[in-house]
Amino acid sequence: MRALVYHGAHDLRLEDRPLPTAGAGEIILRMVTAGICGTDLRIWHGGHRKYPDGTVRVPGHEVVGDVVEVGADVVGVAVGDRCIVAPNWGCGHCRQCITGNNNRCANYGAIGITHDGAFAEYLRVPAPSIAQGNLIPLSKQVDAAGAAMVEPFACVIRGQEAVGGIQPQDTVLVMGAGPIGIMHILYARLQGARRVIVSEMLPARLEQAWAAGADRLVNLADEDLAQAIHAETGGEGVDVILVAAPSHQGQADAIQVAGIGGRINFFGGLPKDRPTATLDTNAIHYKELLVTGTTACSTADCWKAAAIVQAGRLDLRAVVSHQFPLAEAAQAFALAEDRSSLKIVLTP
Ligand SMILES: [Zn+2]
Ligand SMILES: [Zn+2]
Repeated sequence: MRALVYHGAHDLRLEDRPLPTAGAGEIILRMVTAGICGTDLRIWHGGHRKYPDGTVRVPGHEVVGDVVEVGADVVGVAVGDRCIVAPNWGCGHCRQCITGNNNRCANYGAIGITHDGAFAEYLRVPAPSIAQGNLIPLSKQVDAAGAAMVEPFACVIRGQEAVGGIQPQDTVLVMGAGPIGIMHILYARLQGARRVIVSEMLPARLEQAWAAGADRLVNLADEDLAQAIHAETGGEGVDVILVAAPSHQGQADAIQVAGIGGRINFFGGLPKDRPTATLDTNAIHYKELLVTGTTACSTADCWKAAAIVQAGRLDLRAVVSHQFPLAEAAQAFALAEDRSSLKIVLTP
């Protein structure tokens, strides 16, 4: 089979590899679509700590595939079933795992991170992943490119749940209108947010935010965020702020434009070499703000995301701007870096 194999920074090679076969507890998926994530770009640049020098591995963790082989001892799944796979599994017995937060497990494994992943024609799903319920069936009615967005969407759900979900009276500010920001807009609207305001620098991304249903755009290139929020909320500030941009200024601004009792999620991390930001902690204190962070998603989050997509409540196809065959992965990765695109999926 053909597979896109990491050999080092900026060295992804399309190679022939032997077809995987299913051992006990495993299954084999024929890949249908696989999303390219920011994590994959970090891997490509050689900046992922689970890809130290000398690693030879297939990346890709946003998985949609059809079951072609079922190993011994696997129950509840049959050849032909369409599935997505929650990428992370945990040790299964630490405090984080037993409370359903397997994304926080210190000894996690993950498809495309610690094990060969989805940028290939076939994918072996490891036994612990299946044993922990990571294989999630999805109807073939669901658009396959949109289905590859279930995992990043699960991360978005986790971010919004960290601030107690969105209530009907909430005015929401989404900072950054990349693919994750767009999914934050879609999910905030689905939950019935009173108003969704979006701040962003790039005109193309503002247009995408508008198409996703934003009520008010703040173009940071020519508008002051604090003034715009003041005018929009009658001076009250916003109730929920989702910071979907790796921005020091964004984090500081979030504290400033939050209203009393405001809830904030730092969804995007800051660059590793500059992880500190200057925040007005008096504003956190006097406004009684809730400031949260989330990273990745648990298997439970993936099941929730899949249920929403399966029920037709949200069409994530709109988040995908381009599809490429595996053979054109180099172009796909280059385009994924260009901030004018939304999500890109490979179709092995
Ligand atoms: Zn991802
Ligand atoms: Zn664990």
